[in-house]
Amino acid sequence: MAQENLVVCSTCGGVNRLPPGRNAGGAKCGKCGKRLFSGHPEDVNGRVFDHQITRSSIPVVVDIWAPWCGPCKMMAPAYEAATNELEPDVRLIKLNSDNEQAVSARLGIRSIPTMILFHGGREVARTSGAMTAGQIVRWVRDHLPIATA
Ligand code: ZN
Repeated sequence: MAQENLVVCSTCGGVNRLPPGRNAGGAKCGKCGKRLFSGHPEDVNGRVFDHQITRSSIPVVVDIWAPWCGPCKMMAPAYEAATNELEPDVRLIKLNSDNEQAVSARLGIRSIPTMILFHGGREVARTSGAMTAGQIVRWVRDHLPIATA
């Protein structure tokens, strides 16, 4: 029997149960009513970040960035394009390291942009430096056992 997916809303951090086979791409958050997958990587606070990492049953990618970081800005459109391609199989979020310094320190971030892939609450992979949309998608898929194509 297929298991239902736990999908965390990037807007409010609410945990949503999605039955398998349902079109997750069009699903809305039961708590705040926003679309669970908007094709846009939300900038999350530490609380929503923790919910995403610990409660999501789908893989979660976080892009750690800062407003003063040139390569981060350069990569933003690529990250958005990768979000469009990988959702709803993978959750993509952003974390502003200036606003969330405690989370950034806990993750041991030394340079940005850094992307970390989490699955089942554990870090699966990490990479630093700007990438194109194609490189991001390939990097995520290379590290996942599940078929996201
Ligand atoms: Zn919500």
